[in-house]
Amino acid sequence: MLQQVNGHSLGSDAEGRASLKGDLREFLGGEIPLHQLDDLTKVNPVTLETVLRCLQARYTEDIFYTNAGCTLVALNPFKHVPQLYAPELMQEYHAAPQPQKLKPHIFTVGEQTYRNVKSLIEPVNQSIVVSGESGAGKTWTSRCLMKFYAVVAASPTSCENHKIAERIEQRILNSNPVMEAFGNACTLRNSNSSRFGKFIQLQLNRAQQMTGAAVQTYLLEKTRVACQASSERNFHIFYQICKGATEDERLQWHLPEGTAFSWLPNPESSLEEDCFEVTREAMLHLGIDTPTQNNIFKVLAGLLHLGNVHFVDSEDEALPCQVMDDTKVSVRTSALLLQLPEKMLLESMQIRTIKAGRQQQVFQKPCSRAECDTRRDCLAKLIYARLFDWLVSVINSSICADSKSWTAFIGLLDVYGFESFPKNSLEQLCINYANEKLQQHFVAHYLRAQQEEYEVEGLEWSFVNYQDNQTCLDLLEGSPISICSLINEECRLNRPSSAAQLQTRIESTLAGRPCLGHNKLSREPSFVVVHFAGPVRYHTAGLVEKNKDPVPPELTELLQQSQDPLLTMLFPANPEEKTQEELSGQSRAPALTVVSKFKASLEQLLQVLHNTTPHYIRCIKPNSQSQPQSFLQEEVLNQLEACGLVETIHISAAGFPIRVSHQNFMERYKLLRRLRPRTSSGLGGLEPAKESSAPLGTGPFCGCLSSLVSSICFGGLCLQRGTRQ
Ligand code: ATP
Ligand code: MG
Repeated sequence: MLQQVNGHSLGSDAEGRASLKGDLREFLGGEIPLHQLDDLTKVNPVTLETVLRCLQARYTEDIFYTNAGCTLVALNPFKHVPQLYAPELMQEYHAAPQPQKLKPHIFTVGEQTYRNVKSLIEPVNQSIVVSGESGAGKTWTSRCLMKFYAVVAASPTSCENHKIAERIEQRILNSNPVMEAFGNACTLRNSNSSRFGKFIQLQLNRAQQMTGAAVQTYLLEKTRVACQASSERNFHIFYQICKGATEDERLQWHLPEGTAFSWLPNPESSLEEDCFEVTREAMLHLGIDTPTQNNIFKVLAGLLHLGNVHFVDSEDEALPCQVMDDTKVSVRTSALLLQLPEKMLLESMQIRTIKAGRQQQVFQKPCSRAECDTRRDCLAKLIYARLFDWLVSVINSSICADSKSWTAFIGLLDVYGFESFPKNSLEQLCINYANEKLQQHFVAHYLRAQQEEYEVEGLEWSFVNYQDNQTCLDLLEGSPISICSLINEECRLNRPSSAAQLQTRIESTLAGRPCLGHNKLSREPSFVVVHFAGPVRYHTAGLVEKNKDPVPPELTELLQQSQDPLLTMLFPANPEEKTQEELSGQSRAPALTVVSKFKASLEQLLQVLHNTTPHYIRCIKPNSQSQPQSFLQEEVLNQLEACGLVETIHISAAGFPIRVSHQNFMERYKLLRRLRPRTSSGLGGLEPAKESSAPLGTGPFCGCLSSLVSSICFGGLCLQRGTRQ
C-alpha cells in the first residue's frame, strides 16, 4: 500500500521526510508547498498516501492541526508547545472576524461552536466529538477546549457576580484532575489513559457566559482495580495516596512506606499524574472537604489491603479455602479500614449462599480458590465503581447550573477510539459498537446537512452515495436478532454454555450477514465483525459472564453492614434502595446486562448529539513510543484508515468548497451583472434574495450564476465534486 505515490516509493521515516519537499510540487503543480496546505480537501488526488504525506510534511514543520473539510485533524506533538495554547492565542481566535481564516486549530472549532450558539436568534446547542486511539490526545484536546471556553466565556471582571463565575469556571476545570486521578491509569499505550468515556456539557447563558456544566461518564474499566496487565498500573489515585500521604495519614491508613501491594504494580514508576496535592486541592474546590477526602482515601487503602489477601486450596473439599498465613493480617487491616466485621468479610469471599426451592431454603457451599479470588476482586470492583459514580454525581452537583441559568450548551465528547487487539472481548465490542454509532451519526449528519442546504438553495446536486455502516449496526444491535441480543439471551437463559457454543450460535444464527467475517484462522472460539474501521476478532471465552457482571448478594449485604460513613452512603441498607447489582444476584428480576446498559446510555448520548450541531476532531498519534518529532507512516496510516478520514475528505470535497454570502458575492462579481438580462424589477437582479452564507443562492440571480458557480467550484481548487473513490 505504501510503495507508490505518483511514482515515488514511500520509504523509511527518515527517507520519507527527506523526500517530502521534492514531492510537494507534484501534488499541486508546483504552486503550494505541501506543508502549507491547511485543508486536506485540497490535496490532489485525495488518497491515503497523499493525505499521509501532507500530514507528515506539516508535522515535520511543527504544524499539528489540519482541516479535513468538516473535520479537524490533530496530530499529537508529544512535546509541550506552550505558545500553541497561550491565552493570547485564544484571544486572537476569539477576536478574529473570521477565525476559520486563521491557521487550523482547536480554537477555531472552539470559537465556531461559541459563535454558533450566539449568532442565532434561538441558541443552538453544539457538540464536539473528539476521537482517536489511545494516546492520540483526546483528553488533552478536551482539556484545552475547556480552558478556551473558561477564558472566552468568562464573566467580565466588573460583573458583580464575578466571584461566582470565576468559581464555576475553576470548578469545571477542577473536575478534570479529580476524574483523571480516579478514572485514568498508565497503560502500555498511554501513561495517562482515560479508562472511561466522558461527555461534558458546558452550559452557557444568554450572555454567552459559562454558568455551569454537567458530566456523563461511560463504561469505567473497573476490572483494573483488581487486575492490571503486566507493565500497566492501577488507577493513578492509588499511587498518589501511597506517595503523597503524610506520616500521620500513613499511620491512619495503614500504609507504611515501602509496603508492597499486589494491586499496586510498578510503584517505582513516577508520573506527572501522581501528584496527590493537585487532586486534593481540586477536590476541595469541588466541595469535597478534607474529612470526606480522608474517608475516601481510607476506603481505597482498605482495597489495597484486600488485594493482598490470598487463598490456598483446602485439603477437604467440604471446607472453605483458607487464607494464606502471611496474608491474614491483610484481612484484618482491610476489615478495619472498611469498617466491616472481619469474620463476615472473610466468609463473604469463602462461602457461597444459595437459595433454592419454593421456600427459598438457604444452602452454603464453600468456594474454590478461584472463586474466592473472583469474589475478592468483585468486592473491590463493586466498591470502586460505586465510589466513582458517586464522585461524578458530587462533581455534577458542584458544577451544574440550575436549569434557569443556562440556555444552551457546548458538549465535549471524549470517548475511546476504535480498538483492535490480539485478544478482544466485551469491552472492545462495546467500544467499537459506540464508534460505529458515532461514525454513522457523523456521515449521516454531515451529508444530510450539506445536501439539505443545497436543496434549499435550489442548487443542482446529485446525491452523494456514501457507504453507510447500517449493515454492521444491524449485525451488532439490530432486531430481532443480533450479536448483542444473542449475548444477552445467553445471560437471560443462565445456562452453562461454553465459549465454543456461543461462537457456533452466533455464526449459525447470523450466517450470511455481510459484516460477519470469516472465522477461519483462530483456534480459540471467536467471531469476526467487519467494522467500518476494519475487521476485529472477538473471543467468546468469558463474554457471557462479563456481560452478566454478577455480584453475589452476600457482598452487597456485607457492605451494608459497614460502619464506615462513606460505605454506608454508597451501600444503603434500606431494601427499597436495592440496586441493580443486588437484584442481579439470585433474584428473579430480569437483570440489566452490561451490553444493555451501555446500549441505553449510548442511545441517550446519540439523542443528545442529534439535537446539536456537531463538530469533529480526529486525534492522530504519530508514533506509539510517545516520542516528539517521530512520524511513523505505517502507524498513522492505520489510524487514517480506522477513522475513515479519506472517506470524510471525499464527502467534504464532494460539496461546494467555497461558501460566500450573497452580499460578498455581489460585491466581488458585480461586474458580471451585464451578463444577465434586466428583470422587471429594474434592479438587474441585484437585490439579495435573502441573506445566506450557503454556497450560492436561489432567487432572481440564480440562473445566471449557476455556470459561474460551476466555474468557481470546479474550475478552481475543488476537483472532487460528486466523485468518490
Ligand atoms: P486515551 O484514550 O488512552 O485516554 P487520549 O487520546 O485521551 O488517550 P491523551 O491522554 O489526551 O490521549 O494524550 C496522551 C499524551 O500525549 C498526553 O499525556 C500528553 O503527554 C501528550 N499530548 C497529547 N496532546 C498533546 C498536545 N496537544 N501537546 C502536547 N502533548 C500532547
Ligand atoms: Mg483520554
